[in-house]
Amino acid sequence: MAQEPFLSDKETDRVPRSVSPYKAGFRCVCPNCAAAPLFHNILEVHSACPACGFDLSNADPGDGAQVFVILILGFVTALMGFLLYGVMGLPIWALAIILGFVILAGSVWMLRVIKATLIALQFHHDAHEGALDEKDKQS
Ligand SMILES: [Zn+2]
Repeated sequence: MAQEPFLSDKETDRVPRSVSPYKAGFRCVCPNCAAAPLFHNILEVHSACPACGFDLSNADPGDGAQVFVILILGFVTALMGFLLYGVMGLPIWALAIILGFVILAGSVWMLRVIKATLIALQFHHDAHEGALDEKDKQS
């Protein structure tokens, strides 16, 4: 049985995208046309773009967005807590209200933006499972 050669990145079919994945991600819009919203709930991705019909059913950023939000927002709120309590001397109940709002609003906003950016980057770079030949690509 003859071995098929591996396909390099240059041999795979790359689809040029006119929309910047970072702009589409920041605006939470379709990575193909940037004309329709990517989410139909707070964090639920459309199965297909309502404007251009682009298939979004394979969009899967995994847990990547949550990790970024935990690390970035955790650092920001800890720093804010030190500044508000240590430098400005705010009472604990004020810290709880301010930081509670920052954590709730910031985590939802950052989850949307980072999830949309990861999905847009996935489609921009045509990321998918590896395949050794054309028969594997079909399945
Ligand atoms: Zn679209």
